[in-house]
Amino acid sequence: MNPTRPGAGWIEVITGPMFSGKSEELIRLLRRAAIARQRVEVFKPALDDRYSEGDIVSHSQWRVPCRLVERAEEIRTRLDPRTEVVGIDEAQFFDDALPAVCGHLANLGKRVIVAGLDMDYRGVPFGPLPVLLAVAEEVHKIHAICTSCGAPAAYTQRLIESDERVVVGASGVYEARCRRCHEPEGAPPASEPWLFPPGDDSDQKEEG
Ligand SMILES: [Zn+2]
Repeated sequence: MNPTRPGAGWIEVITGPMFSGKSEELIRLLRRAAIARQRVEVFKPALDDRYSEGDIVSHSQWRVPCRLVERAEEIRTRLDPRTEVVGIDEAQFFDDALPAVCGHLANLGKRVIVAGLDMDYRGVPFGPLPVLLAVAEEVHKIHAICTSCGAPAAYTQRLIESDERVVVGASGVYEARCRRCHEPEGAPPASEPWLFPPGDDSDQKEEG
């Protein structure tokens, strides 16, 4: 794998639940490219205002300057043509145009590194991520640690009730859970048959 070969366009996706270190991994790859004097630009959706504007800030407080955009198409139109490496964080909040935008940039020879949640708190594939995972040359699916039992965790558990799909915030509102300990709220929609119904394994959860 050598995605930094000049002119070799490429899409890679870093995905997993909250608290799995997606932003840290994105920042690590971007810093490594910047140290090699490659031109790096970073974008994220304008709606995520958890921390300061204009930076990607990981939970461990590493930060990288970035541009806030409303729509995926703005990444294409606002990108400096000289940029070689494009970072995109919180990709799950972008619209469905994001995979096409990433494909366009990769076709121009740019390395596109995308980080985002693969599933929402119910375990439902999130926004443009399912398509991005399919079209990417490389996928890093990383895990957190289940807060309940210590197993590798691929799910995000929401700890408060809300009608919104997204509740902004992290600690105290969400925690990472494994498949056994994850408890999706409400009934799974019929269109998402891979979701196990909540409660049908409740007698086994005590063991974890
Ligand atoms: Zn667990």
